[in-house]
Amino acid sequence: MPMFVDTSPPGQCIFCRLVAGEIPAALVYEDALTIAFMDIGQVTPGHVLVATRRHAATLLDTTPEEAAAVMQTARRVALAVQAAFAPPGLTLLQANGALGGQTVAHFHMHVVPRHEADGITLSWPRKEPPAAVLAGYAERLRAAL
Ligand code: 5GP
Ligand code: ZN
Repeated sequence: MPMFVDTSPPGQCIFCRLVAGEIPAALVYEDALTIAFMDIGQVTPGHVLVATRRHAATLLDTTPEEAAAVMQTARRVALAVQAAFAPPGLTLLQANGALGGQTVAHFHMHVVPRHEADGITLSWPRKEPPAAVLAGYAERLRAAL
């Protein structure tokens, strides 16, 4: 679990205050539904956050329009990051809930330039269950759609 988690109520969280201009940010782009700004932590140079303008805690709280708009802005920002910083790799990361690695409970996506030995890690403990188990999972999900 992350050490710091901002779970301030809607309108009072760090990113709501940033959207309102109450705290400073290095702004990259904004439109009706989204805002993009430099992550204060700069995991690598050019690390940008794309957030919804409206407070939505996680992906599950966004509207389809907001979710689509964040991805469109992330793509646009990714192209700009590629043009301006020319990283050999680029990772988009979007965390939901403290256990999902989210520290600011206002929906956002990271656009992170990647480099050889940049220190970023995410372990991926593969299980490779049998096909019947996969089919069962898919059936549960189709029923939930
Ligand atoms: P999360 O851990 O929720 O996926 O990402 C939250 C990100 O917000 C972190 O990478 C952190 O550096 C960034 N952050 C936290 N507070 C501020 C702030 O006040 N301004 C900016 N620009 N970024 C912030
Ligand atoms: Zn907020």
